[in-house]
Amino acid sequence: MSTDAANTSNETAPVAAKPTRLMRQYELVERVRAYDPDVNEDLLNRAYVFSMQAHGMQLRASGDPYFSHPLEVAGLLTDMKMDSTTIATALLHDTVEDTLATLDDIKKQFGPSVARLVDGVTKLSRIEFQNDQAKQAENFRKLVLAMSEDIRVLLVKLADRLHNMRTLHYIKDPEKRRRIARETMEIYVPLAQRIGIQKMQMELEDLSFAELFPDARSSIIARLKYLRNEGGGIVDRILDELRHVLKESGVPADVSGREKSPYSIWRKMQSKNVAFEQLSDIMAFRILVDSVEQCYQVLGLIHSRYSMVPGRFKDYISTPKPNDYQSLHTGIIGPEKQRIEIQIRTRDMHEVSELGVAAHWAYKQGEQRTDGMQYRWLRELLDIVEHAQKPEEFLENTKLELFQDQVFCFSPKGDLIALPSGATPVDFAYAIHSGVGDTCVGAKVNGRMVPLRTVLKNGDQVDIVTQKGSSPSPAWDRFVVSGKARSCIRRFIRTQQRTEFIMLGKSMIDKLCRAEGVEFSEKAFEAIAKNFQSSNLEDLLANVGSSLQPVREVFNAAYPQHKARQPEKVEKIVDRGLITKPKGKPGAAPLMLKGLIPGMAVHYARCCHPLPGDAIVGIVTTGKGVTIHTTDCETLQSFSRMPERWIDVGWEDSGDKNTTHLVGRLSVVLINRSTSFGALTTVIGKNGGNIINLKIINRTPEFFDVLVDVEVRDLVQLTNIIAALRANTCINSVERTKGR
Ligand code: MN
Repeated sequence: MSTDAANTSNETAPVAAKPTRLMRQYELVERVRAYDPDVNEDLLNRAYVFSMQAHGMQLRASGDPYFSHPLEVAGLLTDMKMDSTTIATALLHDTVEDTLATLDDIKKQFGPSVARLVDGVTKLSRIEFQNDQAKQAENFRKLVLAMSEDIRVLLVKLADRLHNMRTLHYIKDPEKRRRIARETMEIYVPLAQRIGIQKMQMELEDLSFAELFPDARSSIIARLKYLRNEGGGIVDRILDELRHVLKESGVPADVSGREKSPYSIWRKMQSKNVAFEQLSDIMAFRILVDSVEQCYQVLGLIHSRYSMVPGRFKDYISTPKPNDYQSLHTGIIGPEKQRIEIQIRTRDMHEVSELGVAAHWAYKQGEQRTDGMQYRWLRELLDIVEHAQKPEEFLENTKLELFQDQVFCFSPKGDLIALPSGATPVDFAYAIHSGVGDTCVGAKVNGRMVPLRTVLKNGDQVDIVTQKGSSPSPAWDRFVVSGKARSCIRRFIRTQQRTEFIMLGKSMIDKLCRAEGVEFSEKAFEAIAKNFQSSNLEDLLANVGSSLQPVREVFNAAYPQHKARQPEKVEKIVDRGLITKPKGKPGAAPLMLKGLIPGMAVHYARCCHPLPGDAIVGIVTTGKGVTIHTTDCETLQSFSRMPERWIDVGWEDSGDKNTTHLVGRLSVVLINRSTSFGALTTVIGKNGGNIINLKIINRTPEFFDVLVDVEVRDLVQLTNIIAALRANTCINSVERTKGR
């Protein structure tokens, strides 16, 4: 455990060795007995035989007997020291789905708790491999419900997924491989992270990464190798020195150095302005000790010996992460004058960080703590499940939540409230109670009134000012980050919007009736509602009000005998730009922007090339309409004294991502080599970008400065392209140009 030294893991593609032979019955039992003397030997033996017989002659894509799969999954769970019930479930997890065995058979032979777990895992498997978002969201929803009943369902599911990912390369269809990898990355990785199983999280991440971005991964690995050689054993020298310092102090400690995974480096490179240059970006050192006192003792020792890098110290011992992770993190200028990151924790904390929920869980707990509801985040997910209207919305809300880091704030009474980082007082208000959020009108942070969109920092004390009868502002939707706040605000907007649309629809019909000299009759319209995909009159009025149905057509259907007095003309309604329009229905072409007055001309500023996802603002120019800038564009300074010309705008959530095309401008410094331009265009093309303009600004014997305009779908795609370029050895640097 002391030195999992630098250069082992990342050299080759992550391909698991083909199992040479199946684990025997007694071997499995012995593996469990090694950590649990009370192993239920009989249960395991019977499950082993049952599964082997049920799967019979079935084969995996690898050509191995199918039974090797449940057996491997069971093996993974013994590594996590799980109880006999869970191991038996792993052995049986595919029998109901893929063999003649029924859930009843399982229940009769193995009892209700194994049957319940197998049922949970089966239900999840049944809904897998769906491509479209709605179905994927539905899967996720079922997953949340299943794990809230028994967290072990999730543990078996994760082990199942891990083995399937390890053997992914045997699947021939590349589309299917990518689909599975994407699903793993989007759903199972965040879940593994959330329940704190770091080991599994990292392997799942790396396997998905290898499938989704093979070129980026191999570039990063090549770069790592280069840096390792260039460092000339620097890692070992740092390790030696740290060990020496600790030995002198007399604190018994294990010191190890670990290379960060290619995927975590990739993630870091995607975030702005992080070049993949230095040792500090790729190495993490870890010190394990026996007690909490020793953790702080070692921290003091390190800080007195080396200079600290400000802003890098984090104490997750006094304030653990929501997944129970505990550790001290600090950044120092290390022995070789390099910035390095050091983590200090006890051996117990280390076990929790590797095994997460499973570390607490495991065989000792018996049956009493199977309920997943002790996890607050799980309760919050369930709350969102229950209140989200559309599955896509649910997926958006929860996915965001799972990916984010946390910020910790206090109520005036001193209660600790954990929020996703980037959270605002509105998120805080909703975290206390949805009633507080709905009536929130202002906030004091550390005793001072602040705008509601202020981003909260660790340790802030937040006092929410509420007012009876006030209601959420649709504008909040643009800056809140927690799933709970977002779903509450949208719920409110939907209700309010509908009421407005009904009123508007009613007045449009009234007006037309008057113009045509016809008496408005509820019955006439009620009768034809179904013809317009509306279930009742209110629905129909709302559809007319939101311009989903042309008022003239509806009128003509209600009074088929009537001869029109007025020439037919296009009915226009004012879009108050409040809200996202309903998607996917005829006539509801998604707008790019919200917050604009219809009919106004819109231009995208050429100085900053805003893309969907950027924070933006509109500047009104008389006679020219509105120009959209990114909020950090320098041009905006010249408008700072004209607040009346600023309008608040946001990106419309476009359902169909393929319809939008925007241009991002990249400033690239290429190394002057014959292969450089080829590499530049290949990387951009491979990541789905379309080069529409390319200009060489400057040339020296070493470098080319190039401006590239790339057409992309959205900001995410552009960020991917930038990260992929940064990983390429032909490219010295890449920045998005703005404000020029
Ligand atoms: Mn399986």
